[in-house]
Amino acid sequence: MIKNIAWHASRNILPTKANLCHHKVLDKPTCEACGMEAESSEHLFWQCDKAREIWTTSRIPIDSSGVHFNEFVDLLWHLKFVQHFGDEILELVITIAWSIWFNQNQVWQGKADQSANMIIHKARSMIEEFQVANFQPSGSSMKEVELWINPKPPWVVAALSKKLHYPLGPLEAEAKAMEEAVEFAWDVGIQDAHFESDSLILSNAIQGL
Ligand SMILES: [Zn+2]
Repeated sequence: MIKNIAWHASRNILPTKANLCHHKVLDKPTCEACGMEAESSEHLFWQCDKAREIWTTSRIPIDSSGVHFNEFVDLLWHLKFVQHFGDEILELVITIAWSIWFNQNQVWQGKADQSANMIIHKARSMIEEFQVANFQPSGSSMKEVELWINPKPPWVVAALSKKLHYPLGPLEAEAKAMEEAVEFAWDVGIQDAHFESDSLILSNAIQGL
């Protein structure tokens, strides 16, 4: 999950508000923390005052003078290849970034804003719990899954309704709808999904893909 977040963010497709606006899921992309700028990856993880406070509080000695931050991967690249940080610090940076993103989503849903200290504490305890879960001989995988899946359902993340302007038969239309659904789930950052279809042929055809 954390690696997926880093990958998503590094490709600038993490479901930040700016991206959700781009996909017409939201009307306004304004950052919840400062209310000033659009919540792009760059803003959310780096330029926002809240992000800066969090990185300062983390005491990770980031030398920001050489960072040209267009995407999250630029920060990771800088830390790994310019400042030569090891995997442990990079893991912490990625987990803090995830916690920043998670907190902003919570605020967006009307929950309380977490302080910089609380966000860092959450990131550190996620790493600890993940390590503990991975050292348990059995039954650990379920615990791990529970830890990462958040927030819990019922929770409508996003909905998509779309007209397809193609001359398609029922089966082709069902297949095209499935393709749209998978892409949409990917775009809004859903990591674990169940897809339902009325077509047994389609369902059998995509099993194991
Ligand atoms: Zn902001």
